Amino acid sequence: MDFPIRVFEKWKMVCLKCGLVQKVSKVWRCKCGHPLTLITRMEDIQLDPLILTERPLSLWRYREVLPVVEKSIVSLGEPLTPLIQLDLMGLESCFIKLDFLFPTGSFKDRGSSIMISAAKLMGVKEAVEDSSGNAGASVAAYCAKAGISCKVIVPSYASGSKLLQIRAYGAKVVVKGSRSDAANLAMQEAKKGTFYASHVWNPFFIEGTKTFAFEVWEQMERKEPDVVVLPAGHGTLLLGAYKGFLELKELGMIENLPRLFGIQAEGCSPIVDRLHGGSESEGSSHLAEGIMIKDPPRLDEMVKSIVETGGDALTVGDHEIKENWKKLAEKGLFVEPTSAASLAGLEKLMKERLVDRDESIVVPLTGSGLKTPQKIARLIS
Ligand SMILES: [Zn+2]
Repeated sequence: MDFPIRVFEKWKMVCLKCGLVQKVSKVWRCKCGHPLTLITRMEDIQLDPLILTERPLSLWRYREVLPVVEKSIVSLGEPLTPLIQLDLMGLESCFIKLDFLFPTGSFKDRGSSIMISAAKLMGVKEAVEDSSGNAGASVAAYCAKAGISCKVIVPSYASGSKLLQIRAYGAKVVVKGSRSDAANLAMQEAKKGTFYASHVWNPFFIEGTKTFAFEVWEQMERKEPDVVVLPAGHGTLLLGAYKGFLELKELGMIENLPRLFGIQAEGCSPIVDRLHGGSESEGSSHLAEGIMIKDPPRLDEMVKSIVETGGDALTVGDHEIKENWKKLAEKGLFVEPTSAASLAGLEKLMKERLVDRDESIVVPLTGSGLKTPQKIARLIS
């Protein structure tokens, strides 16, 4: 191994499909072809809530459950994102988590900060990522901070403003066909030895997004909400939330897992199709570019996280996304349209009585409106 393996010796990489367990390394895929997950012995971890209160208001306050060491941290000052109560749909306890307030304008910084910190520790000099935009911008920013050369491969439909952001951080941008074409090209480069800084495949990324659950737990007076409604494309936030709440339960900090609901776009809903059979809708979303993923590698994991928590998945259309985007803007919240899909999903969950009015509900807003000016120009014209 060409990096200090001792740092990772408390962690292992496991394939949840075939069960193969291996040491932590730059490997990003199991021999059987499935994604890997990082695990550690939770019984060895001591997370003292009182010590947490003395630490800076950053996701790095949960260092006991993160697979990195302090000297390798690559940080752009990730905040503890605000959790605000919002008067929506007459709900008593609806909390919105402002995850678009990260340094690059999206929740992806949770994952990038931890993943690029691990890459730095491994001595990585070159990284490649494929993304519809936000993850690419985030990885590019953290690579810039770490002094790692970065290439981001994007599909042809990615927003021009997101490409500008990626280029501004000094990363090389390659535009390549469909979302799968971009992923295939990145994998080819990764096979040649470039570090695959994939928000989808790299297991360190989900170690970062799991801090979402730890923050919600602390911000809700160290309790779990009843329900969390999340956008679900590749499912990096859904899976991070699931892993985080599961770890909090294993640590004895919460009694129950919140019910997790995954919201997908009409015409691109593999979780809904798996849970409810067949595609319930045709058409295609022009507003939810961040979650238009037809064949997500972690689909099995997403379905399991939803089923195990007693949640569900459903689709929303562009009309519903538009209406809910406007509701948020009227409350002073300027987000990219994909972010409004979760709120549209919550509205549907209420109508279908899958969520009760008196339950405590958390909805993250995942990306800033500044990311997609052209789409927003059409929404308000
Ligand atoms: Zn496997």
